Amino acid sequence: MKRVGAHVSASGGVENSPLNAKEIKAKSFALFTKNQRQWKAKPFSEKNINDFKQNCKDAAFDSKYILPHDSYLINLGSPEDEGLEKSRDAFLDEMKRCEQLGLKFLNFHPGSHLKKISPDACLERIAESINIALDETKGVTAVIENTAGQGTNMGFRFEHLASIISNIKDKKRVGVCIDTCHTFTAGYDLRTKEACNATFTEFKKVVGIKYLKGMHLNDSKPELGSRVDRHESIGKGKLGIETFRFIMNDKMFEEIPMVLETPDSSIWAEEIELLYSLVEK
Ligand SMILES: [Zn+2]
Ligand SMILES: [Zn+2]
Repeated sequence: MKRVGAHVSASGGVENSPLNAKEIKAKSFALFTKNQRQWKAKPFSEKNINDFKQNCKDAAFDSKYILPHDSYLINLGSPEDEGLEKSRDAFLDEMKRCEQLGLKFLNFHPGSHLKKISPDACLERIAESINIALDETKGVTAVIENTAGQGTNMGFRFEHLASIISNIKDKKRVGVCIDTCHTFTAGYDLRTKEACNATFTEFKKVVGIKYLKGMHLNDSKPELGSRVDRHESIGKGKLGIETFRFIMNDKMFEEIPMVLETPDSSIWAEEIELLYSLVEK
């Protein structure tokens, strides 16, 4: 089955996130395991960890349907030594927090070259950063998200994802998350069934289906190829409903977390219902 959910709040403690997900009838969810705009976080208490696991169990959220997202401050391809070290430390801490919670994935944006190193050098740094974190942790898969390519962000071409993966030592613990808004504004059309077929055929050819560990379901405010990252509610943006009809009916997307990051959280329950209504019997 399809596992549609949303990036829910973890305010008041990570253990609240599965409760928030259950509330909107999500079948998967994403969360920040710490404040996403700060470098440091208080370690989890025993209670945080136990309650999180118990609440996930009670609401039937297996760890394969949970896609935690790292802090926006982290730049694993940072051209500056100090920034790179700080990012690598913070990323390792995020991986360890996922490990503590019994989670399988950590989703992140690859990184930015800030016009100080070449895009290729940036991709190499990103891969090295991932290798370091994988070396020091167990069980958590690093899930690279494709980006809109805003500013100097890498990861907007499927080739970027493939290049990073090619340099990862433990390929069993690397995957990708495809964000529909980012894919579209990066220049891959998804507005019709034909366009979706072409785009995902290219994805399979360049990256490989076995690496697909999750999706972010977002409509897009900006136009195709604009390289701008601004999400819109499902069916209300430049993508429209056909994109999501394709995803909800293609076998490629079975049993992976598909997470809404749409701007109006008050309608997430409705958006989830709308997405399931697209499934053809
Ligand atoms: Zn996303
Ligand atoms: Zn985005």
